[in-house]
Amino acid sequence: MKRIVAITGAGISAESGIKTFRDEDGLWENYRIEDVATPEAWHKDYKLVLHFYNERLKQLIHVSPNNAHLSLVRLEANYEVDVITQNVDDLHERAGSSKVLHLHGELRKKRSQVDPNYILPIDSNTNEIQLGDLCPYGQQMRPHIVWFGESVPKMEEAADIVQKADIILIIGTSMAVYPAAGLIYYAKNDIPVYYIDPKADQTTIPNRSVIRIAQKAGSGLPKVVDELIEMSKNGN
Ligand code: NAD
Repeated sequence: MKRIVAITGAGISAESGIKTFRDEDGLWENYRIEDVATPEAWHKDYKLVLHFYNERLKQLIHVSPNNAHLSLVRLEANYEVDVITQNVDDLHERAGSSKVLHLHGELRKKRSQVDPNYILPIDSNTNEIQLGDLCPYGQQMRPHIVWFGESVPKMEEAADIVQKADIILIIGTSMAVYPAAGLIYYAKNDIPVYYIDPKADQTTIPNRSVIRIAQKAGSGLPKVVDELIEMSKNGN
């Protein structure tokens, strides 16, 4: 089976009702990124940062995977599919994707500030990280999120996956957040790269030839998936 790697960003979850932030004047659900998504913000105001991520987590209960998440799952009948997502929601898993790598962490998990490998699921009864929820080192547990300014521990694993791809799909990402945006350069030079995003025509991806589909993921992606399934059935 050929290998497809789907690199997804906030845009794939937009039609499920989760806002992206680059489309909204730099605000994310009415918060400034610097106030809630950096290590400095955490050290300045634990309570605000916890409140923000607890709200994002609670939002997950009210949203569902959309056509785009679901169509990636359909590909698995004909291809080996890896999803590498910048998203912290769990909509790929809930849609049924088998292999999902979260580059920027997961809303449903919390971790120790002291030991980044001490990671626990958040209790699904409370759906929040509580103030005073301490790790074994006596420190407040934090969201399992890679904040701006922090290194991306799964980057190497993601690059290895991209290197093995026969086809790449880039979906709903501005290709502006590094190092995630650089992943494409680990791909072999001669493979097809599809870019599905309403702003696909306006985004530069230097030195790569890209098939641009300037549509929303929920309508553009299912068509690409149908095409790829047909190609696989025809032995291409
Ligand atoms: P981004 O930089 O990936 O930009 C959003 C992209 O989505 C834009 O290119 C926009 O044109 C596109 N888009 C908007 N509606 C779309 C649709 N219906 N279909 C397809 N594409 C669409 O993402 P961002 O919002 O700037 O977020 C950057 C980081 O912030 C992420 O990497 C993530 O860590 C975090 N974030 C996560 C979520 C989530 O988990 N759902 C949401 C917002 C932000």
